[in-house]
Amino acid sequence: MNKYLHVFLLGISYKLGLTRPINLPYQFTIEPTNICNFRCVFCPQSNPEHRFLRKQGYLTVDNIGRFINEVKRVRPGNRNISLTLDGEPAMNKALPDFVKLINDRGFLPRFSSNGKLLTPALTDKLVSAGSFLASVDFASKPEYFDNVRGREGDYDIVLVNLRYMVDIARYNPGIKMELVNISHFSGADPVKSLNDMKRLFPDNLPANIAFWSREFHNFGGHLKTTSGSNYKLCPYPWTSFTVTWEGDVVPCCRDTLARTVLGNVFSHSIHEIWHGERYQNLRKKLVQRKVDEIAACEKCDLPWSGGQRRWNPRYVLSSLMRR
Ligand code: SF4
Ligand code: SF4
Repeated sequence: MNKYLHVFLLGISYKLGLTRPINLPYQFTIEPTNICNFRCVFCPQSNPEHRFLRKQGYLTVDNIGRFINEVKRVRPGNRNISLTLDGEPAMNKALPDFVKLINDRGFLPRFSSNGKLLTPALTDKLVSAGSFLASVDFASKPEYFDNVRGREGDYDIVLVNLRYMVDIARYNPGIKMELVNISHFSGADPVKSLNDMKRLFPDNLPANIAFWSREFHNFGGHLKTTSGSNYKLCPYPWTSFTVTWEGDVVPCCRDTLARTVLGNVFSHSIHEIWHGERYQNLRKKLVQRKVDEIAACEKCDLPWSGGQRRWNPRYVLSSLMRR
């Protein structure tokens, strides 16, 4: 489907709060693994019980192939496939195979990584596999990084890895990078620390290498945040389709524990799940503001957070079009 038409149709479905949207999903995400080598303090992975709350495992090449074939049938306007949810994608040794397979089927893979396992050797394999977008959380100083990620020495390893990938990406527009500043979680000034972080890399980098500061959310209730009282309808159930490594479909990438399962993509089609009773019920409850009746959403700060800018239709549309 044409990208503009797809965004237009999802905008109508969301605005009218249709429990059965006119369009099929726009953004597709599948989880390579729910296992991580870090325990960041802002992430549910830092809960010592986390690994017992959901079965741990890895997406296989066969299963991602089945999923991408299904996505091809939907023909979304957006050509990106995100490899993320819970866990570190590079913990799955098949990550370069996923990148190749997604490229071969005509899509662009994106993944978020903590960067520790993105060694020069792995970067070389990923680059040989095709185009991709890698988003990596980083910081301007080791102390800000260690404060969140907890292990001394990791900052220098990640910096070496990122500099190697930046050196490749600056001459290869098919490799896109987002270097995301998290220093402000440790109390640093977001603007100054972002500028300091940029100075760790060469000047005048091309537009395929972007830098910004992360906007933190409460990870489905993991963090205590100040919530507003002004309810906004969450757009994810009208736009995004998020799948765990086992094929379970969840409302969005904040549901890392798969508290609300809407179907399984290895046993039903995307069309059946998207228009199924469970998805319709989720949308109905969100429209009726019965967030506390949805396990995934009851503690999420998204419907209660964000300034005018975040909910401005022009901002939402431009975010979708960039994807
Ligand atoms: S934020 Fe990412 S790197 Fe940190 S513990 Fe969570 S999944 Fe792992
Ligand atoms: S309300 Fe929160 S948890 Fe629920 S779908 Fe939206 S972002 Fe996800």
